[in-house]
Amino acid sequence: MKLFLNKITDLLGLKKRTDCPQTLPRSTPHFEAPVPKQDQKHDCESYTKLKAEYRDIGRMNAIIEVLGRDFLTAMPEGAYKSRLGQISFLYRRMHEDLISGQVHKLLEKAQEHEYANPGSWDEWDSANLREMRSMYLMYCHVDPELMERKANLSYEGRRRHRAIMKSGDWDQAKGFLQEQIDLHRRIADSRCKANNIDSQYEMLMQEYMPEMKVFDIENLFGSHEQTLKSLMPEIIEKQNAEAPPIAFEEGLEFEAEAQMWLNRSLLEVLGFDFERGGLYETGHNPVEGGTVDDTRLVIYNVDESNFLDSMKSALHEGGHGLYIQGLPRKTWRYQPVAMDMGAAVHESQALLVEMIIGRKQEFFEFISPRLEGLFHGIHSPALAPENLFRLKTRVKPGIDRKKADEVSYFYHVLLRFRLERDLIDGSLSIDKLPEAWVEGMHDLLGITPSSHTEGCLQDVHWFVGKFGYFPSYAVGHMMAAQFYEALRRDIPRIHEKITEGDFEEIKSWLYNNIYAKGRLLHTQDLLKEATGKTLRPEYLEKHLRRRYLH
Ligand SMILES: [Zn+2]
Repeated sequence: MKLFLNKITDLLGLKKRTDCPQTLPRSTPHFEAPVPKQDQKHDCESYTKLKAEYRDIGRMNAIIEVLGRDFLTAMPEGAYKSRLGQISFLYRRMHEDLISGQVHKLLEKAQEHEYANPGSWDEWDSANLREMRSMYLMYCHVDPELMERKANLSYEGRRRHRAIMKSGDWDQAKGFLQEQIDLHRRIADSRCKANNIDSQYEMLMQEYMPEMKVFDIENLFGSHEQTLKSLMPEIIEKQNAEAPPIAFEEGLEFEAEAQMWLNRSLLEVLGFDFERGGLYETGHNPVEGGTVDDTRLVIYNVDESNFLDSMKSALHEGGHGLYIQGLPRKTWRYQPVAMDMGAAVHESQALLVEMIIGRKQEFFEFISPRLEGLFHGIHSPALAPENLFRLKTRVKPGIDRKKADEVSYFYHVLLRFRLERDLIDGSLSIDKLPEAWVEGMHDLLGITPSSHTEGCLQDVHWFVGKFGYFPSYAVGHMMAAQFYEALRRDIPRIHEKITEGDFEEIKSWLYNNIYAKGRLLHTQDLLKEATGKTLRPEYLEKHLRRRYLH
């Protein structure tokens, strides 16, 4: 088996890579200075001190990340309680350091210096100071005890969700979710004051999508909902008139080991650096995290009857992982300006790899011949590129968000956005949630879940306290379509290159235009510089029409 798999990775183009382990572009982009700017002295002494303060906060965050990823991948069950205590304690300490009076005074002095001496501040230093300030403002009025509780409930929620998905116990779920809602409303309340925002939900959402207003989301979503009202029935009608795709036949063997080998090989070809990260299968929901030097991707235990689900998760988390690994660590390391742009841009990178590139006919042309050998299906009609493409682009509304097709996925997000907004702003009580879910699913997709676990309990997000995260999936999908349009514009023969498994230019483009910029720019400016325009939902419509109606 091993020998055979080695052959497959050769076929995927990995052998030629062994003399070239560097997976990101080798040339140093012009915006990375040779000496780490994090450690350089600045004309402004306060700013130099601030960089040291934020470096230590960043280090603490990196420790928490590693402990958290270990919690998901390797920790023995018996360590659960102590690990929860360690993470919560560090989270509280990190928060106390951030909101200390020391940081506040230094921020004020540095801002005065920047105002009086603009010549001493380059765009990266200015952006770093701006991000230091907004990080401070986001948390400065939040009681450290609430943050400790937040960390504790977040990890506990992951575990609770697993148990509740097995028991389906709504009463238990209800009590826990109410606790999360109460906590997050209190946290949001403290933040609202410092950030001049009235809506608690908007405040929570901005943790994932800085500067985004609930009103902006409602507009974007309203416009896409209108588009889908006519587009989705048209797509379904077209697909119904064609013969259905062929299901996987008997004789195909999707062994877990072979699937994971495929997933790792694909990520390596796409540019994920396994010297600085890893892919793990666990009983937890898929998630990414860690640091630039230690990026952990977690996917759900592999299903041996179908390789497409684990490949989808690996590509999705891999897209996140590529983004994390490409952040400007050499220069800025733990500084706020070296952080990612938040969940919407993060999801755009995951969905670009998983949904846009990873479901292209050309992508299946690249992997299909390799799959035939790997899964013992030489000349299998189910593994033919055209059939794999049709399997992965079949539009059929279903109950499960994680298994949703690319078109109806939006409705799953829309429902969750509306419900979590109302839960946080208080217009929907937790008792009414299951009913509101069933009603919403019926109105949007015409389907009814048969249990709470098929309905409002299916996602881990609210259990871990991620209120305000859901919209970033749909916004990220819109961004991904817009980024892909720019990739098509800038990379000649992009489709042939995908068919050949040559992702070098795509990788470089994403690195130069998105990853390596960290938080240098505001989100809309990043989009404008990379694509020529601020966020436009019509690129997603264009992508869907091109893929599903031509
Ligand atoms: Zn994601």
